[in-house]
Amino acid sequence: MSRSTKIVATLGPASSDPQTLERMFLAGVDVVRMNFSHGIAEDHERRAELVREACRKTGRTVGIMGDLQGPKIRIGKFKDGKVVLNPGDAFVLDADCELGVDGRVGLDYKELPRDVRGGDVLLLDDGKIVFEVEKVVGNEVHCRVRHGGVLSNNKGINRLGGGLTAPALPPKDREDIRTAAKIKVDYLAVSFPKSGSDMHMARQLLRAAGADAFLIAKIERAEAVEPKALTDIMSACEGIMVARGDLAVEVGDASVPALQKRMIRQAREQNKLTITATQMMESMISSPIPTRAEVSDVANAVLDGTDAVMLSAETASGKYPVETIASMSRICAVAEDSAEVTLDRDFLDRVFTRVDQSIAMAALFTAYHLKVKAIAALTESGSTALWMSRINCGVPIYALTSQTVTRYRCALFRDTYPLMVKYVGDDREELLEEAENVLVRNGVVQKGDLIVLTIGEPIGKAGGTNTMKIVRVGEHRKG
Ligand code: PGA
Ligand code: MN
Repeated sequence: MSRSTKIVATLGPASSDPQTLERMFLAGVDVVRMNFSHGIAEDHERRAELVREACRKTGRTVGIMGDLQGPKIRIGKFKDGKVVLNPGDAFVLDADCELGVDGRVGLDYKELPRDVRGGDVLLLDDGKIVFEVEKVVGNEVHCRVRHGGVLSNNKGINRLGGGLTAPALPPKDREDIRTAAKIKVDYLAVSFPKSGSDMHMARQLLRAAGADAFLIAKIERAEAVEPKALTDIMSACEGIMVARGDLAVEVGDASVPALQKRMIRQAREQNKLTITATQMMESMISSPIPTRAEVSDVANAVLDGTDAVMLSAETASGKYPVETIASMSRICAVAEDSAEVTLDRDFLDRVFTRVDQSIAMAALFTAYHLKVKAIAALTESGSTALWMSRINCGVPIYALTSQTVTRYRCALFRDTYPLMVKYVGDDREELLEEAENVLVRNGVVQKGDLIVLTIGEPIGKAGGTNTMKIVRVGEHRKG
């Protein structure tokens, strides 16, 4: 338990058999991501069962995140599956074209010709192919190839500078939300939100499907990083993903590192979670070791304060899913060790308004100065642990909960380790003793260690943390 940054791994063909999953869990995965852009509902349902089984077998608490495809604008299919494009070639994106051939392909979003104009730069396949729009004629967008290459079926289209918008939460997303509800995902990631209202809509659809999950807004549009929009989106969800793949295409790759830092800082201030995603260990799709640049990228995301780092194709379709996780885990742990913890400086700017937040902050401050072994947050909803994990005080936070749902959600919080505690009625002393026992049984503390404990009284009410206690393990037993 010496790594506090969490690892999200995307599941796919390379990671869907029970043995590989178990090895991935033991290598340190904290949350698995089901990418609804690929596969059908049954694939995801079957994978979810395997994930639950692997949790039981390995004794690990690994959450499930469903990731909606979103209103990504894509080209249609080609007669031969693909075409080869050379710089200077003419190419037409044609809303009326059924099956693409040399020089022409269809569009899944028929309104595209209405949304672009001459001079626009279009990036296909995450920017690997670049078109310049020359003119729009009826339902046809006439382009000139700037950067060529192989263009294959259903590749995505972005516009440099953003602003291409198909309506949020298309029919496929709505169906996938029902699958996510059936699977009982712990997290639901929404692709390409432009505003808080897109997130509210996702929440309504999820509730209508009879489920509840933490919502993650994938920040991958130029519009979404505008300060007002970003604040609005964050207010409407529990966390964000720095979705660097699409974001780089929209804002230009060179702008992404600074945006990553700004988003992570703001999310922590707004009590939200962050996942840093895409190409973190890209070369490990086919190589057993990462590049120096990848090692630095993962370490820098850790230093930026991200809750989690994410793997996409590396674990979904790569050759080394288990090795990639092990390697990422090691990089995170070393980066965390190297960072100096300066709680006081972070603290001065903080404004607390809520009782549970104030107790959480008091616990951090106390834990930091008394150099205690652990913080134990008895928490029903996980909200106390979330507040605590927004500032690093260098002391691990154990989220002790009786709620299974909460345990899985806390799996994504940085510095936070969820543990199950059984409530024995509402006797406060017995509960505190049980909390200590759980920590001792899990090898977290020993008799004589100092810990900081938080609890809500009366016992068992969500969001009611109002008490902090400093305890020397094994010394306050009654009787
Ligand atoms: P994706 O999202 O992998 O679903 O496209 C992440 C990103 O855009 O970086
Ligand atoms: Mn994306």
